[in-house]
Amino acid sequence: MRLRNKPWAEDFINAHPEIVIPNPEEQKGKWNSVFNNENPLHIEVGTGKGQFITGMAKQNPDINYIGIELYDSVIVSALENALEAQPLPNLRLLKVNGADLAKYFQKNDVHRVYLNFSDPWPKIRHAKRRLTHEGFLKLYESILVDNAEVHFKTDNRGLFEYSLTSMSAYGMLLTYVSLDLHANMPEDNIMTEYEERFSAKGQPIYRLEARFLS
Ligand code: SAM
Repeated sequence: MRLRNKPWAEDFINAHPEIVIPNPEEQKGKWNSVFNNENPLHIEVGTGKGQFITGMAKQNPDINYIGIELYDSVIVSALENALEAQPLPNLRLLKVNGADLAKYFQKNDVHRVYLNFSDPWPKIRHAKRRLTHEGFLKLYESILVDNAEVHFKTDNRGLFEYSLTSMSAYGMLLTYVSLDLHANMPEDNIMTEYEERFSAKGQPIYRLEARFLS
């Protein structure tokens, strides 16, 4: 993701606490009160410009969604998307690092994790930064309900193979694997920005669903 300097982003984000949650650590264990319902919560780590999470929130009004993104200059586009799609009471955004999820969520807060076109970190010495590394899987398990799923899409064959191995080695059950999602596109597939870009170039999109067994 190319980062553009957007000096106005911070003020714009701060002006919309109804969508980009300020002080999210204060909501740990009580996210249902943010959404004012008892619906399940699905999160996307590395939400980018928010096309996927906004589309999912529109498609599934009975599920709560939180898009998590590191950078002001990127999440501000997700915020613009969310504002355009209003009213969307089941969508919120967090500008935090996915590596710190345990500061904001506790066991049973989250019902599913989505990872879409996560940064591949191809160098072996950076493997711990991959969002499907064992360390991240452990983190997801620590905030998810039992037997929850991680859903992952990518154009990157190396990261996909790594993730299949990492999740299997962790003891997760692979319940769905596609080496060409668009060859047999599920009706409810919501495309991400990167998915649109890579599939337009004719690149296959890989997708998996994996379930924790506890
Ligand atoms: N998911 C979007 C898509 O499919 O179009 C964006 C993909 S982009 C390659 C990866 C995004 O993940 C970037 O916006 C990046 O800033 C964000 N990201 C990477 N590591 C992250 C982390 N540890 N926590 C939160 N966001 C992260």
